[in-house]
Amino acid sequence: MKNQEEKLEECRSHVESLLARKGHAGLQETSYPSQSLNFLKRLQGIPQRFDKVPKLNRDASHQNEPPREAAVKLKIIIAGAGLGGLAAAIALRRRGHEVTVFEKAPELGEVGAGIQVPPNSCRLLERWGLRPYLQGKAVEPDAIRLRRWQNGEVLSHTKLVPEFEENFEAPYYVVHRANLQLAMYELAASLGVRVRVNAGVRSYNAEATSVVLENGETHHADLIVAADGVKSEARRVVLGGQDQPPQQCGYAAYRAMVNTDLMRADPEISWLLDIPGQNLWVGEGRHVMAYSIAGGKSFNMVLSHPEDSDPSTWNQNSVLEDMKRHFEGWDPCLVKIISLIRTTLKWPLLSGKPLPRWLSSSGNLLIIGDAAHSMVPYMSEGAAMAVEDGAALAEILSLIESPSELRSALQVFERHRILRTGQMQEASLVNGKLWHFADGPEQEARDAAMRSKVAGDVEESPNQFSDPVTAQWTYGYDAEVEIREAWNEIRARTSTP
Ligand SMILES: Cc1cc2nc3c(=O)[nH]c(=O)nc-3n(C[C@H](O)[C@H](O)[C@H](O)COP(=O)(O)OP(=O)(O)OC[C@H]3O[C@@H](n4cnc5c(N)ncnc54)[C@H](O)[C@@H]3O)c2cc1C
Repeated sequence: MKNQEEKLEECRSHVESLLARKGHAGLQETSYPSQSLNFLKRLQGIPQRFDKVPKLNRDASHQNEPPREAAVKLKIIIAGAGLGGLAAAIALRRRGHEVTVFEKAPELGEVGAGIQVPPNSCRLLERWGLRPYLQGKAVEPDAIRLRRWQNGEVLSHTKLVPEFEENFEAPYYVVHRANLQLAMYELAASLGVRVRVNAGVRSYNAEATSVVLENGETHHADLIVAADGVKSEARRVVLGGQDQPPQQCGYAAYRAMVNTDLMRADPEISWLLDIPGQNLWVGEGRHVMAYSIAGGKSFNMVLSHPEDSDPSTWNQNSVLEDMKRHFEGWDPCLVKIISLIRTTLKWPLLSGKPLPRWLSSSGNLLIIGDAAHSMVPYMSEGAAMAVEDGAALAEILSLIESPSELRSALQVFERHRILRTGQMQEASLVNGKLWHFADGPEQEARDAAMRSKVAGDVEESPNQFSDPVTAQWTYGYDAEVEIREAWNEIRARTSTP
């Protein structure tokens, strides 16, 4: 059995290979539990892989209890009030730490688009008490339907209701980002988190555990958590001055919202709104993910397409026409919806590789969220990983019994989370390969293997949302339970004479 470092090395080399190689090259194996590539192995005549469905790791005795107060109460500064920073703030404050969040922007404002909240993050957010703050804002899609690019034929159908809630003990939501961020802010504020906007961190002093804000103020703490996003300045500090920023992965996305009144007026596309489902059209080098948000008032779309050029050269004035050209000849229903898009933003899709560390050598500055593990959005798990980071951090810090254990707890957190999020970076890149086959033998083998799932056979699927092994690993994961076990194991090992 591979140890944690061997697994991480394997994951790192897979991510590098998936990023470096075009087409479906690099798709032979995954470092995470999955049977989604067996169809390719059958096609290539190489041995298939049969993983066990990972166990659903639950500690029912803790689920309904009030959160355990940390024995060692810390003063914690968080940089960034995105979904990652707010999740960490909520999770840490619940354990009794003093938490201040400094946000650079003059006001909270996520990009105007939707976001999926899968069960592995939804379970944590609900455990923390977010549900009332999201009342009436979240939509629960019935299923994810993977469709053929040309005619919209359903290739695979992942039932979310009631299956996901039953299997993973939490629903799968889609929601407007601004609504989710506001709900998280309100919950954080109600718990006593201080959030200061217009308060960008100008510099991090990892030795002194302090930050200097743009206005010149200096603030000290016991721990600084930087959730400052993909362009993180803290990451450079943590990596000793040599940043390892995420890289372009050969794709960009148009993000857009369609007014659902326009869709309802057209019987050829109005049926897509009858059931609040997610639809994913897949074709050569491109795909479109779409679902309704804001209680059904808007139809959110992410249109991924090949793009290698430097984002600074993009002309946002011609993106609407460029976008339409990319999807010419696709399913007429989809083309019709795209014709209703009035404005769009072209967004670079970046992926990092598992970093060597998230914790500064001083042990006082930690990066989480996109700063630490940005990924392409093809598993819809980027923010979910940031929520898991916050959960795992608060849980492990609640288990230490003296300040002298802080550093080792942060190191256990770091090793554990780099592996989990690195494997999710890999799974996201794998989806990019699986969805983008040109029509031909691989695509035919994939579609045939997916169709068997439509017919009710659930043994394995190239649709990673449906493949039982991948799904359990992704959605069944409980970040609080997992990190508690990791910490207890280390403790047991180090205290054994
Ligand atoms: C097209 C697309 C679709 C996606 N869909 C999904 C999805 O469906 N589900 C999902 O889970 N994830 C999804 N993601 C990923 C998700 O959006 C990100 O992983 C997540 O928003 C990252 O949150 P974060 O808080 O780490 O970073 P950010 O959201 O980037 O937040 C960073 C915050 O830090 C602030 N900041 C930066 N520098 C400083 C500073 N010096 N001082 C103070 N504040 C600072 C910024 O202003 C910002 O508010 C998607 C991503 C894309 C691109």
